[in-house]
Amino acid sequence: MTEWSKSDWRGKPRVQMPDYTDAAALTAVEAQLAKYPPLVFAGEARRLKQALGAASRGEAFLLQGGDCAESFEQFSADSIRDTFKVMLQMAMVLTYGAKVPVIKVGRMAGQFAKPRSAPTEVVNGVELPSYRGDIINDLDFSPEARTPDPARMLQAYTQAAATLNLLRAFSTGGYADVNQVHSWTLSFAEGEKAERYREMASRITDTLDFMKAAGVKNDTAHTLQTVDFYTSHEALLLEYEEALTRLDSTSGKWLAGSGHLIWIGDRTRQPDGAHVEYCRGVLNPIGLKCGPSMTVDDLKLLMAKLNPENEAGRLTLIARFGAGSVGEHLPRLINAVREEGANVVWVCDPMHGNTIKSSTGFKTRPFESVLREVREFFAVHAAEGTVPGGVHFEMTGQDVTECTGGVRAVSEANLSDRYHTACDPRLNASQSLELAFLVAEELSA
Ligand code: PEP
Ligand code: MN
Repeated sequence: MTEWSKSDWRGKPRVQMPDYTDAAALTAVEAQLAKYPPLVFAGEARRLKQALGAASRGEAFLLQGGDCAESFEQFSADSIRDTFKVMLQMAMVLTYGAKVPVIKVGRMAGQFAKPRSAPTEVVNGVELPSYRGDIINDLDFSPEARTPDPARMLQAYTQAAATLNLLRAFSTGGYADVNQVHSWTLSFAEGEKAERYREMASRITDTLDFMKAAGVKNDTAHTLQTVDFYTSHEALLLEYEEALTRLDSTSGKWLAGSGHLIWIGDRTRQPDGAHVEYCRGVLNPIGLKCGPSMTVDDLKLLMAKLNPENEAGRLTLIARFGAGSVGEHLPRLINAVREEGANVVWVCDPMHGNTIKSSTGFKTRPFESVLREVREFFAVHAAEGTVPGGVHFEMTGQDVTECTGGVRAVSEANLSDRYHTACDPRLNASQSLELAFLVAEELSA
């Protein structure tokens, strides 16, 4: 790799980042964060990279999911537990469908900074800066709330540390027991209108019964009670990322200590921009969002910059084109990857190309469009002979009403009932699990 330092991004064009007015306050926060322990360890990031390498070959499958934006106000043990729980259920169904290990990665413990399509927002004739995520400013619509405040980075760090602590406890403390996870899934499949999922659920029951009868041990010392659960977020706020960058003494390389996997958003992936400059130098697995405007030339440049050694598992391409547009964009990008002989994991984000405004004025996503994009993604990979390596969802374990559709149908009129997202609309627990069943059907087809 060409020379790199964790602050080189400061010399590159930056987009989507706040201009802090109080430089002294910003410097003090950065100094504070730089003294704190990293949230994740290099060995964990390396292990995830290895697992993703397997996904690039079709020997594992990635499930990445969580809030669009984590929130300070909605932070609670229950919401972390519920999202973790539904992800385990989804992972089990997907494992059954894919017949390979499912890598579980939360959009959690750091997913606080948001790129926005417009720098300002007008409400009732008043124009204020857009909300950019709780690590930057506040959702309230007032000049004070919308002013970027560097001290919010410290609160984000604290919340991320507490979230990871709970996730680590859930992963190994017995909560992740396969039988328990499956019993939750059975109650979904036994519900009204879920007949379609009953058969697969009962086949999973049979498999578990067989394993038990065959003497497969299920105690805390064995893998049926523990899971590997990783964290991820968009590496948008580079002052935060830089302050948590640490030298890994084992490899002599730099680690983004803020989360296991970090990704570059569709709005910040300029090959010569600040975000690519930061991400290219850290050892973590890197995600790259690919929307309709991604050109073949840019993708080739980005692959060369972000993965110069063509390491398996280093680069995950997260396709987010929108239902109806996958056939237009995915084949040309797959071809670019093929021409470069590049190692990548292809993942489908069926959320960000399918956001619409409901007749009732809410930002929503129809379940049908989400499913349609996933199916198009699988169909293109089948036609190209390439590997569909995973899925990326905005979802929550809470029973929210933000996306329409699903067996427990949310209608446009219901959206106002429990619409809690700080940013984009999320699949609720039932919609998430239903989607996992439908993806499992694709995987086993
Ligand atoms: C996101 O994942 O919340 C996001 C903003 O995605 P994208 O960069 O793909 O628009
Ligand atoms: Mn989003």
